Amino acid sequence: MLSDEDLIRAALSAAAAADPRDVPVGAVVFDASGRELARAANAREATGDPTAHAEILALRRAAQVHGDGWRLTGATLAVTLEPCTMCAGALVLARVDRLVFGAWEPKTGAVGSLWDVVRDRRLNHRPQVRGGVLESACAATLDTFFRTHRP
Ligand SMILES: [Zn+2]
Repeated sequence: MLSDEDLIRAALSAAAAADPRDVPVGAVVFDASGRELARAANAREATGDPTAHAEILALRRAAQVHGDGWRLTGATLAVTLEPCTMCAGALVLARVDRLVFGAWEPKTGAVGSLWDVVRDRRLNHRPQVRGGVLESACAATLDTFFRTHRP
């Protein structure tokens, strides 16, 4: 069985495949047995799509191969950065079982930093969450990008 660190390492490799113009965030979806269903990198610049966050793209692709329609029951999503409100909402809608993420995002994070969208007790589906996995490696990827792109 893959460790959470293994899952984040896969997400880091997905991030590394991002278009050089895009903030390198990567997401990977695994099924309950640990099989990789889909991976994606943030592609907002590459696609001109404001919703093309890594998590959204990976969830869409995973649902195509998971075999339970739009429901990603039993799935785990690993992402290098704490999800925003849109992606946190999408995780709940997709019925993802678990979320593992790397770096915290104090400016926009919606899984504990600014909001906690996925664990709101009013929701009937609440994914389990573990944040801060390989946090420094994930943060370093972003720091490098912003140092070279937005000095
Ligand atoms: Zn997002």
